Amino acid sequence: LKPHQKELFGQPIGLYILFLTEMWERFSYYGMRALLVLYMTTQTIGDDRGAGLGWTNQEALALYGWYTMLVYVMSIPGGMIADKLIGQKKAVLLGAIVLCLGHGVLVLTDIWAFYTGLGLVILGVGLLKPNISTMVGGLYKQGDIRRDKGFSIFYIGINLGSLLATLIVGLVVAEWGWHAGFGLAGIVMVLGLINYVFGQKYLVHVGNFVPSKGDENEISYGQLYSKLFSSPKQLTFSVILLAVSLFGWYKMGWKYGLLFLFLTAITSLLMMIYKELDSQVFKDRFMVLLLSFIMVIIFWGAFEQAGGLMNLYTETNTDRVLFGWEIPTVMFQSLNAGFIIIFATIVASIWAKRQLKGKEASSLFKMALGIIIMGFGFLFMVFAAMEFEKSGTSSMIWLVLAYLFHTIGELCISPVALSFITKLAPVKYASLMMGVYFAATGLGNKVAGIVGESASEFGEYAIFLGILVFTVIIGALFILLLKPLKRLTHGAEDNERVMH
Ligand code: GLN
Repeated sequence: LKPHQKELFGQPIGLYILFLTEMWERFSYYGMRALLVLYMTTQTIGDDRGAGLGWTNQEALALYGWYTMLVYVMSIPGGMIADKLIGQKKAVLLGAIVLCLGHGVLVLTDIWAFYTGLGLVILGVGLLKPNISTMVGGLYKQGDIRRDKGFSIFYIGINLGSLLATLIVGLVVAEWGWHAGFGLAGIVMVLGLINYVFGQKYLVHVGNFVPSKGDENEISYGQLYSKLFSSPKQLTFSVILLAVSLFGWYKMGWKYGLLFLFLTAITSLLMMIYKELDSQVFKDRFMVLLLSFIMVIIFWGAFEQAGGLMNLYTETNTDRVLFGWEIPTVMFQSLNAGFIIIFATIVASIWAKRQLKGKEASSLFKMALGIIIMGFGFLFMVFAAMEFEKSGTSSMIWLVLAYLFHTIGELCISPVALSFITKLAPVKYASLMMGVYFAATGLGNKVAGIVGESASEFGEYAIFLGILVFTVIIGALFILLLKPLKRLTHGAEDNERVMH
């Protein structure tokens, strides 16, 4: 047996190589993310953890929003580079190297190093994250029953990295200061890189570059764009979007301007793909997928208050003393990952049981329910804000309950969405759609930043209550629309029901 054919616990060994690489990558990502707004808002003097940047909450959350958005939006070019130029395996390698550099630069205290580091992390994650996910899929042949389980194992790896990071990085920062925390993220990424390089013999068969065969049926992105000019309806729509983007640029500045232009380009591409699909079934499925991305944006827009507004709330408004010890704020970020590891298999088996009983358990239903459950988590934040208004501090139990509901919601939507994409996306565009999915989560992160920022104007109470009401209504709306939406999937999930 060749190394890449060997198995461990019933799974290809390559899975464990990718599991560990992603675990260390997520350690560095979530470790750094947990520090970010706290570092930016800490005053330049008078803190044990060293000088921060001394920014206002609003400034910090604004940059945090752009950063966490770009990290995921870069999955689109990251996926395209892998598909068209170097293959996923090399893209992951390149991403890992860039990440080591990025986290390394953040150890320096200069402001240029701060921006350069963030920029490199954005490029690195964009190259690594979507492509390592696709490589996991590549370990299995079509129809291999180990695939779903492989993905759940991989998702646990992601959260193990996040759990370790948020437990350890907070302690390191409390002891040695901010830049030691950033440095730890860098060291850990080097471990991820080493582990990936030495594990190559188990990955010889996945993520390799497949050059285009010059097949007649194969349409390049360039060709799709040029076809835009021979489709008057689509072209008009793109021109309108372009005009809106340029107006946005003029009104809201270059950052939003560039974002709108990027979204115009992607929307035009998706529109042309839709037009090129050769049957109504594929078209309908594609449409459902895009509609489900609305849920994705809204979900992450609320959920991602975690590292931003809720993180700041934990730092300044929460009584964090337990048995005489003040728990570092960063450690509260580990609740999500810890709950995932505890509940992932439980939630999965609840769905399986429902399905056996013939009850509703389609992906769209799970996703809508996930939004509602996560939304209810904000009820506890409303209670926390009420307590704070009355007594000047609030109990940490509210945060624990909020993160518990957020996590159960995440388990209903996040792993489910990944597999939903592989079921509904046209095969030719699977990696692109994976990139678009991650970009949708990135837009959600941006929305989260905007909503969080507005807390300085409206107050935390109003924001938490607003998120609760909005998300529950949206979730309920999608449940009401379930029947027609499911009709558009044309039974893409039916065989799954038969198999379980
Ligand atoms: N927590 C998951 C991860 O880090 C999901 C992130 C996302 O989809 N935006 O992979």
